[in-house]
Amino acid sequence: MKFFDLTYHSDNQLDRRQLRLQQMIHLVLFGMLLSGLQNVYFQRWYDVAIIFSAAIPALISLALIRRQQLDRAGALFCYSIAGVLTLVHWSSTGLYDPAMIAYPTLIVLAAIACSRRVFWSIFALILLSLTLLSLGDMQGWHPSRVAPIDIGFWIDLMCILFITALMIYVFTQDLQHALATLQEENLQTLKSKAHIEFLAHHDALTQLPNRVLAKDRCEHALAHAARQNSMAALIFIDLDNFKTINDSLGHSAGDALLTEMARRLQTCVRASDTVARQGGDEFLIILENIASAKAAQHIAATIIATVAEPVTFGSITLTTTCSLGIALSPLDGDDFDTLLQKADMAMYRAKAAGRNSYFFYDAAINTNAVEHLQLASSMRNAIARGEFMLHYQPQIDLLTGDVIGAEALVRWRHPELGLVPPAKFIPIAENAGLIIEIGEWIVHQACQQTRQWQDEGIRDLMIGINISPIQFRRGDVENLVLQALARSGLAAQYVELELTESLLLEDSSALRSTLQQLRGHGISFSIDDFGTGYSNLSYLKHFEVERLKIDQSFIRRLTEDPHDAAIVSAIIQVADSLQLALIAEGIENAATLQRLIELGCKQGQGYHWSPALPADEFKAFVLAHRQKLAEA
Ligand code: C2E
Ligand code: MG
Ligand code: MG
Repeated sequence: MKFFDLTYHSDNQLDRRQLRLQQMIHLVLFGMLLSGLQNVYFQRWYDVAIIFSAAIPALISLALIRRQQLDRAGALFCYSIAGVLTLVHWSSTGLYDPAMIAYPTLIVLAAIACSRRVFWSIFALILLSLTLLSLGDMQGWHPSRVAPIDIGFWIDLMCILFITALMIYVFTQDLQHALATLQEENLQTLKSKAHIEFLAHHDALTQLPNRVLAKDRCEHALAHAARQNSMAALIFIDLDNFKTINDSLGHSAGDALLTEMARRLQTCVRASDTVARQGGDEFLIILENIASAKAAQHIAATIIATVAEPVTFGSITLTTTCSLGIALSPLDGDDFDTLLQKADMAMYRAKAAGRNSYFFYDAAINTNAVEHLQLASSMRNAIARGEFMLHYQPQIDLLTGDVIGAEALVRWRHPELGLVPPAKFIPIAENAGLIIEIGEWIVHQACQQTRQWQDEGIRDLMIGINISPIQFRRGDVENLVLQALARSGLAAQYVELELTESLLLEDSSALRSTLQQLRGHGISFSIDDFGTGYSNLSYLKHFEVERLKIDQSFIRRLTEDPHDAAIVSAIIQVADSLQLALIAEGIENAATLQRLIELGCKQGQGYHWSPALPADEFKAFVLAHRQKLAEA
C-alpha cells in the first residue's frame, strides 16, 4: 500500500507531495498520542490539553489535503506545530525542554511543505520565541529550569527523534530519486539528440552517410584540395541488376544486398574517404586528396572487382555488377552539385557501354545523353521506315564442321548515323518500351526468312531469336511466336528462343506457363550469355531449356586465362550432367576452337567462321561452307 510506503516514488510531483504531507501528519499525530498518554499518566493536564488541542489543526490539515489544498494544509499544519512547540517551551522548562530538538525538523518540513512566505514566518517565529526565552532567562523574568529526567522526558525525546529520523530519511530518499530521475532523463535526452542528429545525416538501412552529409564532406574535401593544390574525386556508383534482384527475390534480399554492397564499398577506400548512399541502388564515394586520376581509376577497378564477388543469402548465391562514373576536381568542377551531375553522366555512359565498367566524365558525355533521347525518338519511326534489318550468324557443329543454325541479330541502319549497334539501341528501346514493337518485327522477320531458306533448299537450320525480358513482362510472346509461325508456315521445331538468366531468375508463374505453352507447341529455349549473371543454377530446375550459350567473355581469353578455362570446363560439365546442349559464343580463332574441342564443347559460333551476315550473304555462306565440307 502506497500510504505506508516511505519509498514510494511517483513521477507525479503533486501525488507525491500530498502523500508525504499525509504521512508526516500521521507520524506527528502518532507522536502526539504517545506524548499525550504519558502526560495523562503523569497527570500533567496542562500539557495534555495543549497536545490534544494541537491535534485539531492537524486533522483539519488532513481534510484540506484530501481536497487537494496542499499549500493551505502545509501552512496550517506547520503553524500549528510551531505554535504548540512554542507554547510548550513557554509553559514548561523553557530552553531545556526536549521539544526544542523538534525545531530543526519543523524547519525542514516547512521548507518542503510550505510556501516561501510561510517558511520564513515560521522561522522568524522560532527565532523570536528562542530570543525571548533567552532574554527571559538572562533577565530573570522567565527563567528556564532544568527538570529532572523522567520516563516522560525519555518518551518525548524518542518520539521527536523518531519522527525527525523518518522525515529526513524519506525526504533524502525523494531527493536522491529525483536526482537519479533527472540524470536518467538528461542522459536519454542527450542520447536521442545524438540519434536524431545521426538519422538526419545517415541512411537508415546501410548506416552510411546520406546525400546531405556526403555533400558536406565533399565540400570539405574540395576546400581542402584547393588549399593543398591536390585533386579530389566524386564517384557515382549504380548497381546494374539491382531492380531485377529486388523484384524477383523480394525486398529483404534487396535490402541485404544493399547492406552487403555498402560494407564492401567501404573496404575499397581509405578511412579518410567517404562512402555514402545517394538513394535506391546508388552510392557516392568521395576521394580526398588524390595525386592523379590514376588513383581514382585504381579504386574504381577495385570497386568493380569487389562488387562482382558472389553474394550468398541463405541458399541463394548471386552476383551483381555496378557501373561507375567519375568526376574530378578541379578538372570537372569545384562544387558538389556540378561534380555530382558530371559523375552521374559518366555513370550513364558506363551503363550504355555495356555496364560493369567505369567512365570518367569528359565533355563528350554531355552530347551522349542528348544522343540517347534523339535515338529513342527516331527509333519510333524506324520500323515503318524499314530501317531495321536482321543479320544472321552461323552456328557450327564442332565435330562435323557443318552449319546447324543461325542466330538472328538485329541491325539498325540509321539514315544519318549509319549502322547503330544493338548493344547501343536495344537498352534504349527497352527503356522506352519500343522493344515490344521492334521485337515483334524481329520474330516475324526471322521466321519468314528461315522458311524462305527452307523453300530455297536449306532445310535443316535452327533459327535462334533473342527475346528481351521486357517482351515477356509486357508483351504477349506466346501469341506473337504462334502468329509468326502461322504466317510464315515455319514449323516450331526450327525455332529456339534465347532467354536471359535474369528473366529466368524472376521465377514468375506467368512466365512458367508461357514457356510451357510454347514448349507444348514444339519451340525450344536457350539461355544466352550463360555464366555472367547468377551462380545459383536452381532456376534450371524450374525452367526446362534445351541449350546453354556460354558467354563470349569466357571464350575470348580462354587460351590465356586459366580461370576462364576452368569456368568453361565447369559449364560444360554442368550442361553434360543436365543433358543440355551447349554452344560457345565468340570463337575468334583456331586456337580457341581447338581448346574448346579439347574441353568437350560440341557447338560454336563466332568470327572464326563468320560475323552476322545479311540474309542473302548468309545463304551464300552456308552453300559455300557445305560445298567446302563436301570437297574435303
Ligand atoms: P548476343 O545475343 O549475345 O549476341 C552475340 C553478339 O556477339 C552479337 O553482337 C554478335 O555479333 C557478337 N559476336 C558473335 N561472334 C563474335 C566474335 O567472334 N567476337 C566478338 N567480339 N563478337 C561476336 P551484336 O549483334 O552486336 O549483338 C549484341 C547483343 O544485342 C546481343 O548479344 C543481344 O543481347 C542483343 N541483340 C542483338 N539482336 C537482338 C534482337 O534481335 N533482339 C534482342 N532482344 N536483342 C538483340
Ligand atoms: Mg543472343
Ligand atoms: Mg550471347
